[in-house]
Amino acid sequence: MHELSLACSVVELVEKELALHGGGSVRCIEITIGDLSGVDNDAFLFSLNMVLERSAFAGARVMVDRVKPLAVCGVCGESFSPVSLYASCPKCGSYKTRLVSGQEFRLTSLIVETDK
Ligand SMILES: [Zn+2]
Repeated sequence: MHELSLACSVVELVEKELALHGGGSVRCIEITIGDLSGVDNDAFLFSLNMVLERSAFAGARVMVDRVKPLAVCGVCGESFSPVSLYASCPKCGSYKTRLVSGQEFRLTSLIVETDK
């Protein structure tokens, strides 16, 4: 059900953005999802398409960019791709690592067609 509530918040975001820019019809919705965000791609897309169909944006295309996680070690400075949120540094074994990317979930862009 996590993905369904995310899908609903995406649609709310799109509604807000559209209102801010004076309306139009949404052609494409682009979303960035980090691999460590805990969002399941298939479940999310399924939910989003379901929610979109019942919204004013039925027919809008959805594009998802998955982002590979990247972490930096606070001890030796090694940067690596962690497999989990609490991965240790592959070089020195330290757990003082900082996640740089991989947890994002955001609306990247909207392609809107206006009548004017
Ligand atoms: Zn290290």
